[in-house]
Amino acid sequence: MFSINKSLFFLKNLFFRKKSLEQYNKLLNESKLGEIDRQKLILSRVKAILIHAYNFSDFYKKRFDLINFNPKQFQSLDELKLIPVTTKIELRENNLLIKNYDKNLIAKSTTGGSTGMPVSVFHDKSFKSEVFGWYILKQWGAHISDNAGFLERYNPSKGLTGLINKVIWWPTKRVHLNINILSDEHFFKFYEKCKKNNIVYLEGYVGAVYEFALFLEKYKLTLVNLKFVWTTSAPLNEKARDKMKFIFGCPIYDQYGSCEINWLAFECERCSGLHFFDLYRYLEIDEVGNILITDLTNYQFPLIRYKIGDKVSLNNSVCSCGITFPLINKVKGRESDLIRFMDGSSVPGEFLTTIFDDYPEAVIQFQFIQKKDFSLILKFVPTSDKSKIVVNEVINILKKMWLEKNIIIDLEEVQNIPHDYGKIRFIISEL
Ligand SMILES: [Zn+2]
Repeated sequence: MFSINKSLFFLKNLFFRKKSLEQYNKLLNESKLGEIDRQKLILSRVKAILIHAYNFSDFYKKRFDLINFNPKQFQSLDELKLIPVTTKIELRENNLLIKNYDKNLIAKSTTGGSTGMPVSVFHDKSFKSEVFGWYILKQWGAHISDNAGFLERYNPSKGLTGLINKVIWWPTKRVHLNINILSDEHFFKFYEKCKKNNIVYLEGYVGAVYEFALFLEKYKLTLVNLKFVWTTSAPLNEKARDKMKFIFGCPIYDQYGSCEINWLAFECERCSGLHFFDLYRYLEIDEVGNILITDLTNYQFPLIRYKIGDKVSLNNSVCSCGITFPLINKVKGRESDLIRFMDGSSVPGEFLTTIFDDYPEAVIQFQFIQKKDFSLILKFVPTSDKSKIVVNEVINILKKMWLEKNIIIDLEEVQNIPHDYGKIRFIISEL
């Protein structure tokens, strides 16, 4: 269908983001490759990143030399298994940036992630990963220039970047709800903006989107133009999907990614698994189901056989939707939980994972416990004597943000945070 927004978007990208457009077209073409060609392409991309890592990263050079692994002789993807897995702890303790990295090409990203263990990584800006989003929206019958609503942590760009962003998006309307507090008052304002701008899709952290659905149900409100809802950040539970589908009156699609390696997989309209971007992220699954990923697009901060902290199994069926990216089953990772305040408002877990983003070195791990009286305990495993000072600073920021909530937050320094059936629960709510 002809759309002015769509045409303007491509025209503006021709001027401002030519490389993104080129990569998008390349992605569309590569997604149509036959099986033999795609396997050849994957092999050549894995080999290229291995050689690059060996030549330019001290970490991987040492690692490969130790096992006499010569990436130039790499011939089969099975040989990857010879290389030890890269863990989150190694990521914290080693510098994985290549020796001659280009400071203009790196973008830092930090997260508490699925285990509450803060890590920092650098993305390679020369690969325009936003094109995955364009591709996914196309599969869902929408376009990136469609009006949309977002329920996530919002950091509007300032200065020239902010201005360029506005120019690029105009006349597309993108409305945001900052999720640091979810309350009826905030939801009402967001709902009004969504309605006024006829938003076509909603995107957000699954916990926040779910709360928004409950809000719509409570006040009997609807968003008539909504085509679908896109959930991220934590696996979508089937019960929650059914409920949201009923309230929003449209399909709910799950998309999987992580802070360390974003854009990994997405559901198609069949919702019978997630299509994995295997041409750009090489996936292995170890004997107990752990996801290991080799990022084939990050040449500044190579991640090879990185253990992301989630589990999955392969789905060998061929999807009838026509998308050629292979299927994986639902990812088993952190369940999304909430912190609730006495006045009925809440904060989704996805926001709380980010509280140490500015101080990733401060703690090894952290966990929130919410007691029956609404008070919070922040447990943390310190990295040094100074950890407590930084944790106190973070607590002060939270208390300021939640000033009217009168919330009590106690600190508890611990030596470790116990696993719960092999998984660390990032928030434990006793409410
Ligand atoms: Zn499909």
